[in-house]
Amino acid sequence: MRILIIEDDEDLNKSLCQSLTEAGYAIDTAFDGENGFYLGSVEPYDAVILDIGLPKKDGLSVIKAWRDQAIDVPVLMLTARDSWADKVAGIDAGADDYVAKPFHVEEVLARLRALLRRSKGHASNLIHCSNLSIDSKTSKAYIDNEYVKLTSHEFRLLSYMIHHQDKVISKTELIDHIYDQDYDRDSNTIEVFVGRLRRKLNTNLIKTERGLGYRLSSN
Ligand code: CA
Repeated sequence: MRILIIEDDEDLNKSLCQSLTEAGYAIDTAFDGENGFYLGSVEPYDAVILDIGLPKKDGLSVIKAWRDQAIDVPVLMLTARDSWADKVAGIDAGADDYVAKPFHVEEVLARLRALLRRSKGHASNLIHCSNLSIDSKTSKAYIDNEYVKLTSHEFRLLSYMIHHQDKVISKTELIDHIYDQDYDRDSNTIEVFVGRLRRKLNTNLIKTERGLGYRLSSN
C-alpha cells in the first residue's frame, strides 16, 4: 500500500514516514499543501495522511479540491487537539477520519489500517483468499494457518493483491502501489517478487493473465 504524508512539521513528517515504512507501507512525503495536492492528484495513493494547518494551501482546501475533482482517496486528517471546529470542517470537506495532535503513532497506524480495510470493503484485520490469509495489523501471511516468512516487499505485493482479489492487476498498478516515488521502478522486479511469492506460499492462487498482469483468486 502506498501512502502520502502531507505535514509541514519536518520532524513529525520524518517520524511518521519512518514508522509507516517500518509498518510495511511505501511512503511519499510533501511539506506544503500545494505540492501535496499535486501529488495526490497525479499519483494513485491508497490513503493520505493530511495535516490541517499547512503553508501555501491549507488541508481543508486540499481535500475539498480533491473531492471536487472526484479524487476519492481515503484521507486521515491530523488536527489540533482542541479544535472541534477543524474536525467538523474536515469531515464535512470529505475527510474519512482524523487523529488529534499530539498522538501516538500506534493510533495513526490503527486508524490507517481501518481506513484501508473499509475502502477495500474488508471488516477485519484478517483477510482471506482460500487457504491464504494475511493479518494487516501484524503484516504476517499464513497458509493453512501456518506462518510464512516474507520480506517486506513480498508482503506489500501480497497485501495489495489480496485487498484486490479476483481482479486483474497490471504490473504498472503493482509498481505504483508498492513502491514510493524515488524507488527504481523496474517491472522485471515484479516478476521476480511474484515468482518468489509463489514458491514461498506454495500455492497457485496467483494467476498470470497473459499480457494483462496478475490475479489473486481461488478460482
Ligand atoms: Ca501544520
